[in-house]
Amino acid sequence: MNSQHMKWFPLGLLVMLSFANCGYSQTQKKKQQDMENNDKKNPVYSTTDTSRVEIKDEEWQKVLTPEQFYIARQKGTERPWSSKFEKFDEIGTYRCAACGNALFRSDTKFESGCGWPSFYEPISKTSIIYTPDNTHGMNRTEVQCGRCKAHLGHVFDDGPKPTGLRYCINGVILDFEKKKK
Ligand SMILES: [Zn+2]
Repeated sequence: MNSQHMKWFPLGLLVMLSFANCGYSQTQKKKQQDMENNDKKNPVYSTTDTSRVEIKDEEWQKVLTPEQFYIARQKGTERPWSSKFEKFDEIGTYRCAACGNALFRSDTKFESGCGWPSFYEPISKTSIIYTPDNTHGMNRTEVQCGRCKAHLGHVFDDGPKPTGLRYCINGVILDFEKKKK
């Protein structure tokens, strides 16, 4: 490559990269809109089927939004105070957004001030799986969906009565079902 080419090469590459980036983010955006418009695309989502869901991450990636996949399957954490459910007091049931499993009732939700939707008690003993989590130099207990093992968040023992527990949950992986009148 002579010096003339060297001079032009980086500019060409930059232009190519910006086009590639643009295309990628639009595809991602479209994918997310499709997901939001049509939850039925997720074949495992059910509010009645309680059988365990065991599908591969590649399959999850097709049916979850990128944010949901990051939280549920890669144990990610959403930014504090970013969830619409953090300040939300409608009456109904919170379900796992990945599989539809009933997790929490709105009357067990409380204002914890920690930046994530917080509850003091799950709907049933089987709605949650508890796993010790010693990552990030902390001893915490991870909570996962009892049906599909989606990562939901953590549980701490500084919650209000009657349980004294604080289930600190990522809103991205919650689906709210309003109580029918
Ligand atoms: Zn689930």
